[in-house]
Amino acid sequence: MSRIFSDKKLLVATHNAGKLEEITELLAPYGVEVVGAKEMNLPEPAETGTTFVENARIKAHAAAKATGLPALADDSGISVDALDGAPGVYTADWAETPNGRDFVMAMGKTHDALLKTGSAQPWTARFNCTLVLAWPDGTDAVFPGVMEGQVVWPMRGDNGHGYDPIFQPEGHEITFAEMASDEKNRISHRADAFAKFVQGCFARDDA
Ligand code: IMP
Repeated sequence: MSRIFSDKKLLVATHNAGKLEEITELLAPYGVEVVGAKEMNLPEPAETGTTFVENARIKAHAAAKATGLPALADDSGISVDALDGAPGVYTADWAETPNGRDFVMAMGKTHDALLKTGSAQPWTARFNCTLVLAWPDGTDAVFPGVMEGQVVWPMRGDNGHGYDPIFQPEGHEITFAEMASDEKNRISHRADAFAKFVQGCFARDDA
């Protein structure tokens, strides 16, 4: 059971300005002040977990402990069945290069790995986004979001970010990168997790 959020302030345990803005907008109707990890000078903890929940918990609890505020963190990635769930929690790591992240390279790596397995298409996969809200007393609530789909090749579309050009969500003929952002944001793994978070923690009688 999640608990209704009655505090005045919520710390969002991310250094990503885009994520912070998205969450601030989402919570605007609920009268909660949203602060970011950068604003609070928080270090980024090492993501040493082997699951999305573990990594989101590490980030949320570290932030809640350091500030005494309830803290929300997320962890996300793409898991491909024929690759035994890879890249999974290592989705961002697959894109690392000495000069920063290269997602075209990471998508090529995913495709090469799939070819090596010799597995037949469709290459089923899913995007996960797990949100954890941690309280300073050490308790937490977990809100998992998922979008099922398949990896396609070649890459298609210019919208979005990360692995969007090779992910075709279930029930659609286009990739996330070919979708208008408002459509993706309505159906995505992130939208799923956020809907559960808002329903669990900010449900109002008139909602
Ligand atoms: P995180 O910021 O540690 O959660 O890393 C998530 C990784 O998954 C990043 O490399 C993202 O690019 C990728 N990722 C997560 N959600 C999406 C998405 O909606 N589209 C494309 N890539 C995503």
